[in-house]
Amino acid sequence: MNSPQRSVADYTVGWICALPVELGAAKAILDEIHPRISRTDHGIYTLGALDGHNIVIACLPAGVYGTSSASIVATQMLHAFPSISFGLMVGIGGGVPSRKADIRLGDVVVSRPVGSFGGVVQYDYGKEVGNGKIKHTGSLNKPPPFLLSAIGELEANHSIGFSEIASHLSQMLKRHPAMSKFMYPGSQSDMLYEAEYYHIDSPDGTCSRCSKRHSVYRPTRSSHEPVIHYGLIASGNKVMRDGVTRDQIAVELGGDVICFEMEAAGLMDTFPCIVIRGICDYADSHKSKSWQPYAAAVAAAYAKELLSVVPVRHKTTQPMASPTPISRETSSKIHRSQLPEDGNFGSRNNSYRVSHFVSPHSLQTNAQSMMAITTELLELTGINYSPPLIKARFTFKVQLQTTEALSWGI
Ligand SMILES: [Zn+2]
Repeated sequence: MNSPQRSVADYTVGWICALPVELGAAKAILDEIHPRISRTDHGIYTLGALDGHNIVIACLPAGVYGTSSASIVATQMLHAFPSISFGLMVGIGGGVPSRKADIRLGDVVVSRPVGSFGGVVQYDYGKEVGNGKIKHTGSLNKPPPFLLSAIGELEANHSIGFSEIASHLSQMLKRHPAMSKFMYPGSQSDMLYEAEYYHIDSPDGTCSRCSKRHSVYRPTRSSHEPVIHYGLIASGNKVMRDGVTRDQIAVELGGDVICFEMEAAGLMDTFPCIVIRGICDYADSHKSKSWQPYAAAVAAAYAKELLSVVPVRHKTTQPMASPTPISRETSSKIHRSQLPEDGNFGSRNNSYRVSHFVSPHSLQTNAQSMMAITTELLELTGINYSPPLIKARFTFKVQLQTTEALSWGI
């Protein structure tokens, strides 16, 4: 059967993952994979369809993780596929079990605004206030309202037992028999240790030498179907592998953090998206990779279910990016000589105003222009001014701000 000819304009959902195991799960959950489209850029994308949505999937370069890498991949994707109207960050993460949230391995955490946070907080970003503590300044954007409505719809469905996740998982495994390592590992290998109890190395890399006396008692669940938790995701550039630090940061951020990961903070201000994390460890010293494939598969299955409730109008309309291309003329207004070598603008007087010459049809156009400028800065200087602390102040002006400038509350 001949498949219809598609163009970049047909793809409206951007899906970003960080690890090959996450990309594997993403490909496997697609209803169909589309042939590549010739483009002028060098990005590597998987194209496909899921529940009627045409989807672009990108994975971070191997071994280059963190918020900056995610930001660059998202920016490039939005340039290559200008009709993308929203995104999903889908992969694995470390759970933060607490009295409030009984999180188990294989559960799913989904970002949702909590208090003054938009759903994701960059925990290693802000102003140092001594004792290694950071006062968090600035905040990351909330996901678009229609995506929040969609996750509300799913939450309601799940609360009355209507969940397709287990069915999506079993169908995926049936279609791809080679995915045996993505199967449920079994609750016997889901062990949560006291935060203060550190891992004891063993030859097989497991917790075989760790004392069960220091494990935390949790009642057995009647089913191993994943539970979905909605709330705050802490994102940063270091791997969190310490139970005490994990809990300390969670408390500092108001006690509502339910997951740690390493990419989402690079996306939220440039890429309107929901972050979906399958829980593969507890962000402590006992973390291992054994639950990663299953956790990645569960996150992909949740993403599929989410797309099934996203209104049809968002499949083909309301692109995030304006069809107006960003001209080189716009970018060339930024000269290397204007920019500080280390990415630090130094003083408030040195924050830069960059004229924005693209017709500003909408806020989306502005967002696209800001992304273009971020990319241009990276190409010019090799410095990633990220997270892109670029705020549209006026319709025709874009101001670049530094960490320092932000901490002064400009
Ligand atoms: Zn251990």
